[in-house]
Amino acid sequence: MRSDGDSWSIVDSVGLTALGVATFRALESSEPDALVRDEFAPWFVAAAGEPHFTAMLADPTSVGDIFSDPSAALVSVRTKFFDDFFLSAAASGVRQAVILAAGLDARAYRLDWPPDTTVFEIDQPKVLEFKGKVLAEHEARPKADRRPVAVDLRDDWPAALEAAGFDPTKPVAWSAEGLLPFLPGTAHDALFSRIDELSPPGSRVVVDNYAGGGDIQRFAEAREKYFDKNLFGAIDITELLYSDERADPSLWLAEHGWTVQDEYPFELAARYRRTVAKLPEELADLSKRWIYATAVK
Ligand code: SAM
Repeated sequence: MRSDGDSWSIVDSVGLTALGVATFRALESSEPDALVRDEFAPWFVAAAGEPHFTAMLADPTSVGDIFSDPSAALVSVRTKFFDDFFLSAAASGVRQAVILAAGLDARAYRLDWPPDTTVFEIDQPKVLEFKGKVLAEHEARPKADRRPVAVDLRDDWPAALEAAGFDPTKPVAWSAEGLLPFLPGTAHDALFSRIDELSPPGSRVVVDNYAGGGDIQRFAEAREKYFDKNLFGAIDITELLYSDERADPSLWLAEHGWTVQDEYPFELAARYRRTVAKLPEELADLSKRWIYATAVK
């Protein structure tokens, strides 16, 4: 259950979801036809020592075939799509990136950024502290000027971002990946207003939108019937989500002068030649409600 101002480490509450997707990326990376290779993800899983994800990485079959569950398979698709978004923004001359709710995202280390790029990573303090410690222990070197910004996205994060050197007069590429349903409606809507205020023309944004937590709730309730065990172990993700009223990101951005393009993850998977199990009939409408939205200002 969530509360105003709650906080977490990498092994509890919302923090554990970052460890979960890092585990999926680690497993994807060892597939022969991997869509993305994230050599950093296994380090985080090993260092966290959390029993469920440690066991999953050691023996993926312990929870059945994880990639038979679309929610795991689509993490790989999403990672590739967001990687390509940042590379395309860089190719168009954007030299600032802000990864909102970065979790254990290692893009600052994985992607070939142009040399003068700054990558800001926003997340809660304990998450970024864990991440920084693991990367330092492995003597990892970022491929951009990486600046962790430890702040809660329900608080005044623009002030923290500017204090870290963000320049609101220069175009920026933003991502919010795996974040939106974890924010209450007010913080969700404020996020987009603030992105808009801090984005001069030429800026870009990418988000994955699950139309609020309600859809994930439906998916979770149906999961037991159709898919293998709960990929997140004992934790019930639906208890961490908000499904209160909020703006639709694509519509909101379009109304505020951004040019928006919606992608449907299942169609994208087909374009990437990745087999993802179809959603069962009772959930089929979700495949048109789960959207990766990109927008250019
Ligand atoms: N974007 C990363 C990825 O895809 O690998 C992490 C996604 S993980 C599912 C959700 C992340 O959102 C966690 O790292 C969590 O700490 C972060 N998060 C959620 N609510 C937040 C908040 N209010 N302030 C800062 N970070 C938040």
